[in-house]
Amino acid sequence: MKTLHTDCNDSLLPPASGNLQLNHCKTIGCCNFGSTDKHHYVLQRTNPHRPTLVCRECGAFPPVLNNNDVLAEVARLKIMQSSGLPACSNPECENLGLPVLTHRHLYHAFGYSGDRQRYRCKCCQATFVDRWSGFNGKNQIQQKLLALLFTGCSVRDICRRLSMNPKSFYDQLSQIASRCRRQLSMFDARLFKHAQTLSLASDLIPLQPNSSNGVTWIASCEAASGYVVGQHVNFQQSDVEDASEEHDAYVDGTRFMAPPKARLVEVPPPTPQGILARVDAKYREVLSRPNLEDPLSNMPRINYPAKGCLIRPQYTVYAHYLHLAEMLEYNESLAIFIPQEPLMRSACISVFMDRIKAKTIHPLYVEEDMGWLHGQAAGRIDIVLMGWWRDRWAFTRHDDISKGVCHLGGEKGDEDKWLEIASHRTISDYQKRFHDQFAQLVDEPRRKLRPAGLLPLLDIYRAWHNLCRQDRSGLTPAQQMGLTSAPLTLEQLLS
Ligand SMILES: [Zn+2]
Ligand SMILES: [Zn+2]
Repeated sequence: MKTLHTDCNDSLLPPASGNLQLNHCKTIGCCNFGSTDKHHYVLQRTNPHRPTLVCRECGAFPPVLNNNDVLAEVARLKIMQSSGLPACSNPECENLGLPVLTHRHLYHAFGYSGDRQRYRCKCCQATFVDRWSGFNGKNQIQQKLLALLFTGCSVRDICRRLSMNPKSFYDQLSQIASRCRRQLSMFDARLFKHAQTLSLASDLIPLQPNSSNGVTWIASCEAASGYVVGQHVNFQQSDVEDASEEHDAYVDGTRFMAPPKARLVEVPPPTPQGILARVDAKYREVLSRPNLEDPLSNMPRINYPAKGCLIRPQYTVYAHYLHLAEMLEYNESLAIFIPQEPLMRSACISVFMDRIKAKTIHPLYVEEDMGWLHGQAAGRIDIVLMGWWRDRWAFTRHDDISKGVCHLGGEKGDEDKWLEIASHRTISDYQKRFHDQFAQLVDEPRRKLRPAGLLPLLDIYRAWHNLCRQDRSGLTPAQQMGLTSAPLTLEQLLS
């Protein structure tokens, strides 16, 4: 007698986490786009060298993710971001990471601890103190420390000049970072409150470009002013016992990555010169990845950090956009400019799926030659379908300098507008300036295996960049967004 066929695990999508199911066809023009009906896919788990999920309609094979792990990553980013800030830190609580400063209605003032304000969470009743309320007695020394850091002094030099030991240097640095996060959280909230129409620029690059340590840095800013609204890295300071070598989206905790074995990888051919050839070469590179949405899966060798744990980058990138999506509750029209990277494309498309369907979002790949004059009108436009996905690119050029855009939401007709205004260079420049500013620290041989020391610096740099640094027109990004009337001084930043 034939046994009745029941659902085995092999024919199921990785389970949803609450309402979150990120495993679905990601081809916008496909009738299965966004579908979470397993009958729309061929699913298999027996051969790890073949895709787990293939769309029956369009044949696309988006890698699968563990939905619980994506949400756990969102929680990790929140805890990091609110670390040191007065906010509920109970991972089970819905107020997790929402700072008192911007969410007063969620908390009761609850007496004092010394001269510091104490609060109680209305949701879970947990109490905590605002460590940074009251006067900053260390403002002077912290200002000196920052000034030296920003002039490119080494840690050793700074310690000698301020007569402190390295431990107190890093303690000070992490206190400064907390204050910076506190300042930023108030400005960020104001920015998003008035962001009915918003253009964001994102980029994803190694945190330490000469280290091959697998730490990847995603950052997004308001595209015109350069105000950085969020940045995250796929690395956590604390070790993880049961990190896994292989990614298995059906197992919780799979986002934690064990040190991988060295891989045999073909030496990539040199990057071609012309923009069309470059875009084409990138499509080939991503297709050669064992996991299309994991740029690290194609690295021959990772110099795994000596302490702490790498997180598979797709989890951090999806979490980055989920984090932004939460802040965008007042937003009605959104553009996102990204470099040609399928991980960022997939994350944007999945996280903002409803808005893609409602056509209130414009995600675009943007590639431009160095020397492209931002804001100039497009010349003649050539449309080219590229890559396995037949992505619809629009290219233009002035003399020998070219630019290409690809509307990932599938909209046609506004190519000239996007070629003129779409660009992610504000965020790419921000990341490059960070690397230049702190080249000593970023490239220090010892630091390459100990990236944790750079984490407070990222928060400090973001605050300084948004609130203190004036561009050629004399304005800070916060001023350009109408959030402040003048640049903040270091003293104000630290108070
Ligand atoms: Zn499909
Ligand atoms: Zn709570």
